[in-house]
Amino acid sequence: MKDSILVINCGSSSLKFAILANAGQETLMEGIAEQLGSNTSTISFKYQGEKHQKKLAVGSHEFAVKEIKAWLDLHPKVNDLLVGIGHRIVHGGETFNQSVLINQEVINGIQECANLAPLHSPAHLKGIDISLALFPGLPQAAVFDTSFHQSLSKEQFLYPIPMDLYRDYHFRKYGFHGTSYRYISQRLAQVAKGSDQQGVLVAHLGNGASTCAINKGKSSDTSMGITPLEGLMMGTRSGSLDPSLLTFIMKAKHLSADEALDILNKKSGLLGVSELSNDCRTLEEAMESGDSKAKLALDMFAVRTAKHLASVATTLDSIDHLVFTGGIGENSSYLRQGICNHLKALNIGINSNLNENAPRGEILNISAKSNNTNVWIIPTNEELMIALDTISLIQH
Ligand code: AMP
Repeated sequence: MKDSILVINCGSSSLKFAILANAGQETLMEGIAEQLGSNTSTISFKYQGEKHQKKLAVGSHEFAVKEIKAWLDLHPKVNDLLVGIGHRIVHGGETFNQSVLINQEVINGIQECANLAPLHSPAHLKGIDISLALFPGLPQAAVFDTSFHQSLSKEQFLYPIPMDLYRDYHFRKYGFHGTSYRYISQRLAQVAKGSDQQGVLVAHLGNGASTCAINKGKSSDTSMGITPLEGLMMGTRSGSLDPSLLTFIMKAKHLSADEALDILNKKSGLLGVSELSNDCRTLEEAMESGDSKAKLALDMFAVRTAKHLASVATTLDSIDHLVFTGGIGENSSYLRQGICNHLKALNIGINSNLNENAPRGEILNISAKSNNTNVWIIPTNEELMIALDTISLIQH
């Protein structure tokens, strides 16, 4: 059946892409362009089990999309199956509460939100512009990381600051990872019937990490804020802290506000505390060889994740399910155990044996029998969600 979707995910210095076929179930080709904006940028394509990498003649998002188009021209069998393109967009502000087909009005809307995601939005807009130019016949959709959280009530999304800052500048909590949370909510409803009428906690733990409470299928609170810096400790981000610290850092280190913020975004979190790496796997290996700073970083990550799970849980009537997802959530038994050790007061517990022997890439219930909450590992699939949204928008 002709229903393949090219999914494009433009980051500030990278562009991930994939072609999904058979209602998103099959990945025909995938790849990544990296170090865009430098003269060492590369693009790699993985197709039929083989990976090819080449240097990009021009390290730009535009050129990367041109390379994808050139690859498609060389592979007409894949090209012929394409029916649309789905773009991942980080920030949809208050304008977008669902995925939409892209037209000039949508592009203007994304542009209006650009001040809220200054690193990502310009990259997204470049990706859209060049895709519209190179694939003029294909419908294209925008899928927003923020839209799933537009269901938050005012009490949850407002910051307790003077209200003119919200009215005039839209400063409020938006939340991110919404595409992942929507996928998890739908996938959980397939394996745990009725969960779409219950209270669900999700910890999306990757290099970026956040928590979300989902009440009867709708996001009721989430840990990230106006930017993805708020909430959990992450790979290189500090997460929530006393905002006064920013001015202390500026004064102590003679930095501008942006430079101090850069420390919180790029040099903190697991990397800042371990003084070794932002990568969970590297830290677990270091901990096993006796590195106490790596252990401290991981244990702080566990404590803070548990706190933010407990915090968003206040919007639920009951915690029927807790789901771990993302690279860390799906693969680190050490952190899943550590996080649940701090959630005993919520009657959440896991079976250590199931947790430690969880097969990679599979859905598994790892709850301890004596606890009320079902604890799950569910691999996320944001690309699939973007492809499905795009197909559904094209068909309507
Ligand atoms: P993501 O951003 O979702 O791709 O997740 C990346 C994070 O997942 C990195 O910190 C990785 O070290 C971590 N991760 C991936 N596989 C494993 C593993 N087997 N054990 C521990 N952490 C892992």
